Amino acid sequence: MPGLRCKVLSRIVSDDLKLGYVNAPPEPFPVGELPSMPDFEFSDLPEIEGETELAPPLLYAAQLVEWAADRHATDLFVSDDAKSVVIAIRRMGRIEEVRRLAREYGRRLQGHFRAIADAGAADLVHPVEGRGTLAVGPRRSIDFRLSAIPTLFGQDVSIRLFDSEWSQVQLDHLGLNRDELSAVHRLLHFPSGLILVSGPVASGKTSTLYSALRYLNDGSRKIHTIEDPIEYPLPGVHQSQVNVRAKLDFADLLLALLRHSPDVIMIGEIRDPQIARTAVRAGASGQLVLATVHADSAAQAIGVMRQYDVNTTFLARTLIGVINQRLIRRLCPECRQEIATGHELVGNDAVRQQLLGETPILHRAVGCEACNGSGFSSLTCLPEIMLISPEIETAIIEGASPSDLEALASDQGMLRMVDAAQVRVLRGITTPEEICREVDSPELSHLAARYRAAEVAGDASG
Ligand SMILES: [Zn+2]
Repeated sequence: MPGLRCKVLSRIVSDDLKLGYVNAPPEPFPVGELPSMPDFEFSDLPEIEGETELAPPLLYAAQLVEWAADRHATDLFVSDDAKSVVIAIRRMGRIEEVRRLAREYGRRLQGHFRAIADAGAADLVHPVEGRGTLAVGPRRSIDFRLSAIPTLFGQDVSIRLFDSEWSQVQLDHLGLNRDELSAVHRLLHFPSGLILVSGPVASGKTSTLYSALRYLNDGSRKIHTIEDPIEYPLPGVHQSQVNVRAKLDFADLLLALLRHSPDVIMIGEIRDPQIARTAVRAGASGQLVLATVHADSAAQAIGVMRQYDVNTTFLARTLIGVINQRLIRRLCPECRQEIATGHELVGNDAVRQQLLGETPILHRAVGCEACNGSGFSSLTCLPEIMLISPEIETAIIEGASPSDLEALASDQGMLRMVDAAQVRVLRGITTPEEICREVDSPELSHLAARYRAAEVAGDASG
């Protein structure tokens, strides 16, 4: 029934038009109003007449990227599913599906992104990667990194957006409280040594490193970075990119760089023994070295460095601190709702001490126009900052386990991530549910239980 097919398809296209498909950046469909996809294949449909005139893929690609960047999305996905091409973004760490396109058109859009990124637009068999820039306005362009992999229904095109506006985030806007910020400042004022920033994937490590470099970049220091890839240009900073294809690896670059008398070196990620050893050596020879490492806690970051076969004594003497972190969603201040209050919400002395004089309050997410109905307004950093004292240095040399190191640091005043999390919940910055997604600890269960009970009670009375 070709007539029916065309009718359904034209409805989808015209819905898109009504929603600003051509003349304005696309709006996400409200939940429940996603166009229902007909249960037949689009691939046997003829070309949509006039489609190119309506929204050439080049124009639409730029609109989508600008739209996503304006919403502080970090990623844009253009992926085939069984019947269509789905557009989704990752915003505040969560995936949001925003639009479904007819398959033929969606595939042209994928091809277009791949062409701009110089990622072999014709090769649909192998995973490909590339990088490109889209001009989205007279004075604005957005860099992106693209990776495409073949999937059951076609391909998954993943586009990481590097909006330079976003890269301007300052150290004091990461979401650290006064004590945490002053601990980070203390670390950054060491003339030499190694600072590790740890956390899982997408925990904001790079943002923290960049904001630390921005803080240090006051014209009095020579700052170099070795990155793979360079995510943002930092004016005044000497950034070098690893180039495996040209056999320019990390260790070569670092050794060459040490002859350029840098004061500060930032290393994108420590991910093998050679990088780990060179980073420690650089930190021990008079430079301040900042690097990220993939680990779940500050103490475990030290464990990971040990597994990279780094000389333990050398590491202990060079390491000055570890900033372990997660990104959590901050409640929208316009619509968050108080659901419980009282000192019995406080779980332990460390949390009580932080909240001295404040009334602990639990809030829940509601959703309003300001936060696009999500109840959350932005991402904020949840840190655990370990400063390496002489006692911790000795414990590292003696081979103490990560749990012993954590206990020792906690005795010396380190606020564990699980406690920093509770403090943020009880100050109304976020919810227990949000924390439990990122931090796995039985100590959070009492808060989560109180939260659920208060929610149920609130729903019953309201
Ligand atoms: Zn809101």
